[in-house]
Amino acid sequence: MDAMTTTTFSSTSPLDGSVVDTFPVHSPDDVDAAVDRARRAAASWRALGFAGRRRVLHAWRRDIVAHLDDLISLVRAETGKPRGDARLEIMLALDHLAWAATHASRTLRRRRVGSGVLMLNQHASVGYVPYGVVGVIGPWNYPVFTPMGSLAYALAAGNAVVFKPSEYTPGVGAWLQRAFVRAGGAADVFSVVTGFGETGAALCRAGVDKVAFTGSTATGRAVMAACAETLTPVVIEAGGKDALLVDEDADLAAAAEAAVWGAFSNAGQTCIGIERVYAHAKVYDRFVEAVAERTRELRAGTGDDATLGPLTMPRQADVVRAHVADALARGATPRVGSVPGAGATVQPVLLTDVDERSSAVRDETFGPTLVVNRVASMDEAIEKANAVRYGLSGAVFSKRRGRELALRLRGGMIAINSVISFAAIPSLPFGGVGDSGFGRIHGADGLREFAYPKALTRQRFPLLTLTTMRRTPTVDHIVERIIRALYG
Ligand code: NDP
Repeated sequence: MDAMTTTTFSSTSPLDGSVVDTFPVHSPDDVDAAVDRARRAAASWRALGFAGRRRVLHAWRRDIVAHLDDLISLVRAETGKPRGDARLEIMLALDHLAWAATHASRTLRRRRVGSGVLMLNQHASVGYVPYGVVGVIGPWNYPVFTPMGSLAYALAAGNAVVFKPSEYTPGVGAWLQRAFVRAGGAADVFSVVTGFGETGAALCRAGVDKVAFTGSTATGRAVMAACAETLTPVVIEAGGKDALLVDEDADLAAAAEAAVWGAFSNAGQTCIGIERVYAHAKVYDRFVEAVAERTRELRAGTGDDATLGPLTMPRQADVVRAHVADALARGATPRVGSVPGAGATVQPVLLTDVDERSSAVRDETFGPTLVVNRVASMDEAIEKANAVRYGLSGAVFSKRRGRELALRLRGGMIAINSVISFAAIPSLPFGGVGDSGFGRIHGADGLREFAYPKALTRQRFPLLTLTTMRRTPTVDHIVERIIRALYG
């Protein structure tokens, strides 16, 4: 593949600007060739069956664990995130890998279903067939955890995968692929193509059987448009503007801790991060004070003692600056921090009383900022939380009404009295609605996302045959009597 490639690019560390590694910019021809090889490899991967694939995937998991420190260092180098954050995302990814490997068989294997009264003579079953080759386009914010939600589930379902990691984290993508090969997986069953957006766009047009995309809503639209040309199905995990609701009876210390972690961990570069809080007026002042106190303890920097790293994508700092400036211009109160200065190291910003029309409330900021607004009731909190185009996830802190409020909050995943916990439960589906995308990774739904249902019926004995031109009026009459008796 590389023989056709003429250009290269380097991933550089947000920590000090040093070059981490250099990678080919794969052309559309390179991507086509990778998909062709994956298609050939897919047959033997599928033929391994659930048990054979499970063995390779568990070996891959063990290999990652055996080389953990190396991967943590690479994630830190390419993203700039603290080692603790890098370690945590890898731990969660390993849990997902183990779950997908273990549960693929019982989720996807052929099972008998009822054949209904009119087709009593048929044996009916449904099984889940891998698509063939899945193209995975991943982001940089969690370069292990996020793509693993597609890679592990697509592979466990029996597909070969061609992975295009973000241009900011190609090294992590290549590392995961090398680990797969070390563990006994065939190189073309899980291969990596590198480059910029054009390489990702080429992957959508390379004849893959499904695309799994994680990134911005805007790029998700472009991916979907490219996939539409060939009717290639796609799963879109796009951004969010997740809200946390604080009820009057909430445990305020726990809610404040959760809001701070949900907003500022990974420097706010989390699709399911908390970007807005609606707190009941009765507890608002105490809650804001608790959040402000905890926020002041945080420090962004490039050193090992920093609690937040610099932003991985330097231009993201411009988005943060624009959102904070817009909120302040519309009358918001800067409780901690203010408009960030130049550079990608952004200190945490806590804003209160923010105009609901401001970009800090409506658009994904994807940086270390948090908006906390006062509401007179939880009905108002729900109304405001649900008033954005995104619908990814959210959280509710309440002693008595947690479940009720969670069910009314729009989004694919809601945590009650915690934040983000659903992402660490492999059996739960992960995904959103609206501008947050559609389709699901993780859990049984995530496995089924990468396989299509195939229905089979087998006639066991002739009975009331309806599917013949020689059907008699008597048969029609008997069927009508059955239907009238059952449903009339
Ligand atoms: P993008 O959505 O642009 O990129 C995500 C992935 O898609 C990357 O691998 C990217 O490659 C690739 N890509 C870019 N253009 C195309 C295309 N036309 N066809 C196919 N693939 C393409 O996100 P960014 O990394 O630029 O971040 C922009 C914003 O997206 C952030 O500010 C944030 O708001 C949001 N975001 C949301 C994430 C989430 O988890 N929901 C994750 C990351 C970002 P390359 O990197 O090489 O350009």
